[in-house]
Amino acid sequence: MSILVVGSVAYDTVETPSGRAERVLGGSASFFAVAASYFAPVNLVGVVGDDFGEQQLAAFRGRPIDLAGLERAAGKTFHWQGRYSQDLNSRDTIRTDLNVFEFFQPKIPAAYRRSELVFLGNIDPVLQREVLAQVEKPRVVACDTMNYWIKGKPEELRETLAKVDVLLINDQEARELSGEWNLVKAARAIRRMGPQTLVVKKGEHGVLLFGHESCFAAPALPLETVIDPTGAGDTFAGGFIGYLASVRETSDATLRQAVVMGSTLASFCVEAFSLDRLLTLTRMQVGERYAVFQALTRFESV
Ligand code: AMP
Repeated sequence: MSILVVGSVAYDTVETPSGRAERVLGGSASFFAVAASYFAPVNLVGVVGDDFGEQQLAAFRGRPIDLAGLERAAGKTFHWQGRYSQDLNSRDTIRTDLNVFEFFQPKIPAAYRRSELVFLGNIDPVLQREVLAQVEKPRVVACDTMNYWIKGKPEELRETLAKVDVLLINDQEARELSGEWNLVKAARAIRRMGPQTLVVKKGEHGVLLFGHESCFAAPALPLETVIDPTGAGDTFAGGFIGYLASVRETSDATLRQAVVMGSTLASFCVEAFSLDRLLTLTRMQVGERYAVFQALTRFESV
């Protein structure tokens, strides 16, 4: 099953307690595509400027990531700069230079229109809907969003959510979107808006999945060294959707496995700046860490 991702491809400048990375490869679509490409072919739709070099493109090459939908526009590539707190649990955006991203109008190449899984990265909900208008009945539509759109374009976001099967957001966003402080109530309210599956990301506290029949909780891996959390959410989404594409179904049990696979990929992402760790990952390492997750939560009955 092929996957279509639409989102940002960026240069990131990141400061964490471990150091600083200057104008390195980032963007939601970049993290998502590389993570998902471990499981299934990915069609990437985004925009970069004429300063986006062969060195950055090399990250996508040699993997099943199709770049025909990566538009090159005159101007500079989107640039995001962030600084993390000492405990890595919060970050400030220092600057956002939209550059060519400001005028991004996603154009889905004809060859991508039959993609079976679609991931709408965190962009204007109006653009997310325009993407859906250009594809033919995907089996699963997954979506990310953020406070900026929840507050700024609530009506447009509601219209998009009505067409979404899986929503992946963090706990704060779930509360804002639903107006409910309690996450169980928030999930119920959000599922009434459209997405029948809700994945609530809680950073170092793991993930909650609200599915058809039940709720599932997965921890984040307790890691001794975390270098840079940037992109962990998008990497989670890539592992989650990639896994669904590889097993070709979305039962409750499969969704739970996909959550653990997303968490597995995200645990690698944070071990280095940018996509550095994701790009050196082997399938065997992915499998081994998935098993570590299983061991982490296994316990005997009383
Ligand atoms: P995450 O850490 O999963 O929230 O994703 C961080 C990535 O999102 C970075 O690589 C940024 O380049 C990208 N990003 C930051 N702000 C925006 C924005 N307003 N729109 C799209 N992508 C963004």
